[in-house]
Amino acid sequence: MRLFTSAHILLFAYVVAALIFWGISLDRKSQTIYELEYENLKRTIDSTANSGAYYAKLEEIKNKRTTRTKQYLGEGSTFLLVIIIGAAVVYSSFRRSIRLSRQQNNFMMAVTHELKSPIAAMKLNLQTMARHQLDEDKRKLLIDRCVTESNRLNDLCNNMLLASQMEGRQYKPAHEQFSFSDLVTNSVADYAHSYPGRFEVAQTGNYNITGDKTLVQMAVNNLLENAIKYTPTDKPVYVSIDDNNNQAVLTVADNGPGIPDAEKAKIFNKFYRIGSEETRKAKGTGLGLYLTLKIVKQHRGKITVSDNEPQGAVFEICFPLS
Ligand code: ADP
Repeated sequence: MRLFTSAHILLFAYVVAALIFWGISLDRKSQTIYELEYENLKRTIDSTANSGAYYAKLEEIKNKRTTRTKQYLGEGSTFLLVIIIGAAVVYSSFRRSIRLSRQQNNFMMAVTHELKSPIAAMKLNLQTMARHQLDEDKRKLLIDRCVTESNRLNDLCNNMLLASQMEGRQYKPAHEQFSFSDLVTNSVADYAHSYPGRFEVAQTGNYNITGDKTLVQMAVNNLLENAIKYTPTDKPVYVSIDDNNNQAVLTVADNGPGIPDAEKAKIFNKFYRIGSEETRKAKGTGLGLYLTLKIVKQHRGKITVSDNEPQGAVFEICFPLS
């Protein structure tokens, strides 16, 4: 990137310097033409005997000189403008492609890690069960862990599959009425099974919405998963299901690190994750919120992110009530 920036600046500086050089040469040539024409005038017309014709011709020579100056200044400025625009377009598209390839690289690293770690955990648990005679409680614990890991794997595969299907417009969303409240409470119950005591739920009523249940489930799961993932294990996650302005509203508030204002819009971009692969502690692919936003938009809903007090993030999604 740095090499490209230096080469780009160097090339740009060279073109501008060449343009200035040609401008100066042209000006000199124009001056020479003016001087020759002036000498010629002095030789051909007597300024005292025929002063009217002399000064008219002199005026004409001066005007031609000014017109030439205006012409090459105009053409030079247009050329410079075109070069500046061209250079800016090339530079910004190069930066964009570098950023995308970096994000894709991060994504590949994250996906490889995300795929390998649940498989390794499941293998280890299954090998332990195969090799040792374990009591019922221990066996149950290991089986539960395998189920949690396989769910993680399943969520990741679903996210990746859905992202590519939605991108290729191959996914045909269903259009059915269902209870949004039941969907959220069931999802929270599933997560609470793996993370006991982490959720506090408040529900004011039963709200039905219309759309694709699987997609909405995925959007809700992504928010719950993130809240758990990015919050210290001793802090609770608050979930509330409410209605407002003919909308069913889900709020997920956590006490994690929160999301800086400058990152709030970016986290919905594909593959975007805050920080670098070295500084990130939590696992992820940067696909969750990208898909969540797509799903919410597809259901004519809205998603917002704000700060929690004293710290943390609050994600809110609303869907029109049926
Ligand atoms: P993933 O979690 O797989 O990295 P997401 O698209 O779900 O991808 O989230 C994008 C990024 O937004 C995350 O990498 C994380 O940096 C940030 N983020 C999402 N949810 C939270 C949250 N509840 N608290 C803090 N940061 C979050």
